[in-house]
Amino acid sequence: MALDRFLDLFLQRKCPLCGRSTPDFVCIYCSRALLACQAAQFCELKTPLPLFRWGVYDDALKRAIATCKYNHQPRIATFLGQQMGIRWQKEKDTQKLPKMAVVPIPLHPDKLKQRGFNQAELLARGFCDITSMPCRPDLLQRVKNTKPQMETKSVQARKDNLDGAFITVKNKTKQPILLVDDIYTSGATMTAAVTTLTQAGYKIGAMLVLARTGLHDR
Ligand SMILES: [Zn+2]
Repeated sequence: MALDRFLDLFLQRKCPLCGRSTPDFVCIYCSRALLACQAAQFCELKTPLPLFRWGVYDDALKRAIATCKYNHQPRIATFLGQQMGIRWQKEKDTQKLPKMAVVPIPLHPDKLKQRGFNQAELLARGFCDITSMPCRPDLLQRVKNTKPQMETKSVQARKDNLDGAFITVKNKTKQPILLVDDIYTSGATMTAAVTTLTQAGYKIGAMLVLARTGLHDR
């Protein structure tokens, strides 16, 4: 990834979304279309844990997430992670929060091998590039290869699907944790990760997602 970023500085590459030449992660036209997908309200939920969401899961953002994950375009996630960081620094709601250790929701190793990268980790890294918070993907591991949450039908099925999905190690940081994921559907994935980390003695500060499904408000 470091080499990839280094090369990006010198090479004109093709925009992963439209194919135009660009020195950036995403061309100026696609960048504009993506920025237009930002949600008006960044802080989506205040209790029990603050939940921040960057965008509305629709239009250009929905296509970009699919292209990133299924057409192997990791640069889209890095770009969007940076945008999440820029938004984080601009918003009032985040100013009173402490500096946190940023933990991306992990993929199961089999899925990671198949996809080649974890989009949540790239979002977290892009976010940390901007905010200078420490990125700690080592804190949480996925030990159960769960079905995609969108394919599970009921709330109970979602919970069962994620039961025992994550493990963690104790005493790796005293900082509160900011959990990062790409899409928030029912919240079951975040809840499972929060439970695992809390039981190990970590304090969770907030959750941050790129987009939340099932919401069409801006
Ligand atoms: Zn483009």
